[in-house]
Amino acid sequence: MNWNVILRRGITITCRLSVIPYWDTRSGYDSKVCLFPLRSLPAHCMVIQRNHGRPQCYASDSARDPGSAVPPVHPAAYLPLTRVSIHLSPKCASVRHFVYLCPMKRLSVEKYAKTAWNLLSDGGRTFPYYASFKVTSVCHFSCSFCNIWKGPKETLERDQALSIMRNLGRSSIFLTSLEGGEPLLHPHIEDIMEEGHKQPFYLMLTTSQRDLVEYPWKQWSKWVDFLEVSIDEGHRNLELFDALPDMAQHKMVISVQTVVRAEDQGDMARKTAICAKNGCKILLMPAVDLEGAKHDFPEFLSFEREVLALKKQYPSTVITPKAYFRRVRMKQGGCSPTSIIINSDGSLYYPCRTLERKAVNLIDTDLMEYIKSQAADSCRHEMKVCERACGWYQYFATPGFLNPLEFWDAFRPYAGDFLKRK
Ligand code: SF4
Repeated sequence: MNWNVILRRGITITCRLSVIPYWDTRSGYDSKVCLFPLRSLPAHCMVIQRNHGRPQCYASDSARDPGSAVPPVHPAAYLPLTRVSIHLSPKCASVRHFVYLCPMKRLSVEKYAKTAWNLLSDGGRTFPYYASFKVTSVCHFSCSFCNIWKGPKETLERDQALSIMRNLGRSSIFLTSLEGGEPLLHPHIEDIMEEGHKQPFYLMLTTSQRDLVEYPWKQWSKWVDFLEVSIDEGHRNLELFDALPDMAQHKMVISVQTVVRAEDQGDMARKTAICAKNGCKILLMPAVDLEGAKHDFPEFLSFEREVLALKKQYPSTVITPKAYFRRVRMKQGGCSPTSIIINSDGSLYYPCRTLERKAVNLIDTDLMEYIKSQAADSCRHEMKVCERACGWYQYFATPGFLNPLEFWDAFRPYAGDFLKRK
């Protein structure tokens, strides 16, 4: 922040405080946003600033000398400086306050207000905010912990998929993730992404395609806000880690989603370090025990211990919220209907996919009408008293974003991204 305080005509005091991303070389390439005068920057840190749109790195000792740029530029440099100027006029004492914040996509004020109202009015007990939309069940992989590839091969028609995107757009959904199977195998995925961009929610795409870098991301990144890349031993696509430097060039928030089986636990630290080095995030989630799939849920306490240790070391990289673990340990009520899954035939799993119960088809049923129905209320009650503690990530992690006490821990890895210019 640049504080320019004009005490009298012609006399200006400039106080420079900076909300800046910095690279802490001791904690291993992790970026943080901090608030302090530039001079007090710890000696082992590097300041990252934008100079006419081009990111530059400065060693802390040379922070006051912008000429001594130190290459190379860490990926966190994509964060712009937040500049605040305050001018106090001695006559009218007016304050002009300029804040340059550039969120990746601006939803309408009405959408933010409606979301806040929904949250205040039902405390996260009724309305869904996150939708996982499986546009096709077709997939090249046959992961042991998944059961989708064993089911029928279904792909929604273009118009059906677009109609569901509009249905979600009319609802309380704040973030929609296009998934599969493999969503990039849908013949009209481009149209679906474009439609998703027009809707009042953030758009995510979750993929595990091996030839990821070959797709037209320059165009698609205009529509996709979050790209989640599934990379793990189950998919046998670990070589996709090599694609991260290329993918990180595109203006999307990129996360690696890695499903952890008991035998994969030892490799979490290495995967996290790769993501941090490339300015990406990582979602560490356990392999849930699904009907008809191999049961590979890792030993929960040691999984939790290790993920929390990695979160401490890489606070801007590891997405898995602390609340996830607390909620899985709860006997009842840890999961929540704030997150929904739509199957590749358009049907809505409700209250959850683990129970494999399809409620209505969103091609011809308005989501919000159903959510307000008595039938949906009964499903939510069933979820509330369920003792299965299945650990399905999205049902147990999403509530962390809606609870004021858990919000900062869940949101922290994304805080800088909301300052990023799209
Ligand atoms: S704990 Fe029960 S209701 Fe909750 S997500 Fe798992 S199976 Fe569904």
